[in-house]
Amino acid sequence: MIATRFTEEFGIQYPIVQGGMQWVGRAELVAAVANAGALGFLTALTQPTPEDLVKEVGRCQDMTDKPFGVNLTILPSLKPIPYEEYRQAIIESGIKIVETAGNNPAPHLPDFKAAGIKVIHKCTSVRHGLKAESIGCDAISMDGFECAGHPGEDDVTNLVLLPVARDKIKIPMIASGGFGDARGLVAALALGAEGMNMGTRFMATQEAPIHGNVKQQMVENTELATELIFRTLRNTARVASNSVSREVVGIEAKGGATIDDLADLVSGQRGRKVFETGDTEYGIWSASGVQGLINDVPTCQELVERIMQEAGEIIQGLQIATTTV
Ligand code: NAD
Repeated sequence: MIATRFTEEFGIQYPIVQGGMQWVGRAELVAAVANAGALGFLTALTQPTPEDLVKEVGRCQDMTDKPFGVNLTILPSLKPIPYEEYRQAIIESGIKIVETAGNNPAPHLPDFKAAGIKVIHKCTSVRHGLKAESIGCDAISMDGFECAGHPGEDDVTNLVLLPVARDKIKIPMIASGGFGDARGLVAALALGAEGMNMGTRFMATQEAPIHGNVKQQMVENTELATELIFRTLRNTARVASNSVSREVVGIEAKGGATIDDLADLVSGQRGRKVFETGDTEYGIWSASGVQGLINDVPTCQELVERIMQEAGEIIQGLQIATTTV
């Protein structure tokens, strides 16, 4: 049993979070994560409309009576996104925990707070964490350079980012980026976090609503199987290495590429097809170097129980080692 400020303040059994993942954060996965005692997030923008999001929250509520949340990501997109309507849908659906990401959540906070919603802001730098704390966020999820998706532009890895953030930020902090097993959880706690976030690891679970070929590819891939795209557009994203992501990196390396030059290759709709059809070379899909730690496709319950069991053994082992020296 590992209780932290995070588990206590958010009413979660274990200090493990399944953070927002576009196309992956659907009811099947989030309910399984919740039933396993961890905190899962549906991704608002995975649903084509705010009305669909309300239905997806309802579907998840039918599968679990444990807490779960919704992620609202605010990043550049190929089509305009009606953020206010998604925010309203989150509030109307009765959700009590929201993960914001990608940009300053200030415009959304007053309505979330008025509805009694706790907000965890996903940050990629200490200055963003300080800002989140100053505007009233309840916790931060600190995303190191290791993470899949958008790691920001500072390239600071978690061995430095987390303790520096801990020294300066008082609200609870979840460690995110590069975490996939019990060793990661114990390290996250040692570095000053009150829990760890896993994205890539939760994709390779039985309940993740993506094609089995993608899960198998993640088992086969090593920690080297990622690319950084959009570096030249200052919208860096760490994604699985495949022919499409390598082509994007190649185009950017020539210099002067605009989003219009890349749009066809990087479109989220194409990435969605990867997860639906299992053709891992069809489009861009997010994954981190945690792929190197993935050797199986367990249920969420098996994964969470294994991590908690092994984390307890590691902590006990460290205590024995230090008392016998
Ligand atoms: P999309 O199809 O609109 O865009 C595809 C990709 O191109 C996204 O990564 C987007 O950020 C990027 N992009 C679009 N316009 C851009 C511009 N003008 N300049 C620079 N980059 C640009 O997006 P989608 O796949 O439908 O996803 C919807 C939202 O979810 C986007 O905001 C996206 O960034 C986000 N997302 C987050 C993750 C994550 O891991 N956190 C993964 C996939 C998508």
